[in-house]
Amino acid sequence: MSNKAKLDKCSFCGREKKEVTILIAGIDGHICDRCADQAHTIIQEEVKKESTFDLEGMKLLKPKEIKKFLDQYVIGQDQAKKILSVSVYNHYKRLTQFVDDDETEIEKSNIILVGETGTGKTLLARTIAKMLHVPFTIVDATVLTEAGYVGEDIESLLTRLLQAADYNLEAAEKGIVFIDEIDKIARKSDNPSITRDVSGEGVQQGLLKLLEGSIVNVPPQGGRKHPEQKLIPVNTKNILFVCGGAFDGIERKIANRLNTKVIGYSAAKEADRIERENLLQYISPQDLKSFGLIPEIIGRLPVLTYLAPLDKEALRNILTEPKNSVIKQYKKLFQLDGIKLEFEEDAFQYIVEKAIEFKLGARGLRSICENIMNDAMFDSPSESIESLIITHEYARNKLSHSGINRLKAS
Ligand code: ADP
Repeated sequence: MSNKAKLDKCSFCGREKKEVTILIAGIDGHICDRCADQAHTIIQEEVKKESTFDLEGMKLLKPKEIKKFLDQYVIGQDQAKKILSVSVYNHYKRLTQFVDDDETEIEKSNIILVGETGTGKTLLARTIAKMLHVPFTIVDATVLTEAGYVGEDIESLLTRLLQAADYNLEAAEKGIVFIDEIDKIARKSDNPSITRDVSGEGVQQGLLKLLEGSIVNVPPQGGRKHPEQKLIPVNTKNILFVCGGAFDGIERKIANRLNTKVIGYSAAKEADRIERENLLQYISPQDLKSFGLIPEIIGRLPVLTYLAPLDKEALRNILTEPKNSVIKQYKKLFQLDGIKLEFEEDAFQYIVEKAIEFKLGARGLRSICENIMNDAMFDSPSESIESLIITHEYARNKLSHSGINRLKAS
């Protein structure tokens, strides 16, 4: 046997060249295709271990601790926080439970949050994902369409989750998906037979498959632009879906339902006077059905809760209280330039009043502050000042000279 033939074998498994498909030569040895493949798998496993999503080390907080965590970021909304804390606790208890002989299988409880825009629905879902260190993604239900129509396929929301998980499939399969504007895919009529409603009911049917837990083939790059990509099977059994929507006008459905119950007590007029926030607390799955969600979807969103409209006090607290509040962020920005930034209470009150006037809720606070602070952020880094106090007068002056009126809700 020649010296050359002796050398032509895999330095890892010892297989000879004729026994393998490919033998790659290195400086001082060889590796066969099988060993290269195995090495690749080992590398992937190691990378996965180092991934930011450490599910084994996931610390499961008790519901009270979860609420406390949420309190640091989200102002008010106690009812929603309590209900979320319990359902998240149960959901992740279920994920981390040991398999035993007991036949009882705890089913997952997807969540639906009803409340005006800018009341903290997304913030709640995002904060929970942050607490659990699980992949999180937000999808707008309005862009989803049935396969074959213009828009995004339903599977695309899992593509986004995979991307948020850095393609760590195991982490993605325990992630959280926030589906915003779920009310916009409601069937327009309560009677399914009147017209065919492609955009609404079809999408709901598509979502159903994901919500109930099934294996879905997901294009890792998303969309239809890469038809050649290999699909990744994603199991949605343990993915927590949180849906949010404003459900404009649902108070009427609630009022109607309440009235029919208390008929004979001349409560109709009384109910008319009850404000949205008072009615929302009575929201029930039936109201979602009257609004146009199909019963199967409602059945897959067993945890239903509401977010109250934010009042003046809540808006005022949102400015300064949350861990990452807007005002804390400005203070930090100025501090980095060596400037101590202060706000007078009157200035805060002014900002809150404007947010209410513009009907922008908490969402408007940031844009209003930005308009007030912009000049100061432009000038002060070049000036040698040590402190800056934002007064009511200053805030009013800056805001009236800005393009803020464009923000006004029509
Ligand atoms: P929604 O999803 O209900 O439309 P978001 O959660 O996206 O509203 O809220 C928009 C922004 O307003 C958030 O980024 C946050 O800064 C602020 N915000 C809204 N509600 C609250 C709240 N309850 N506590 C603290 N900040 C809030």
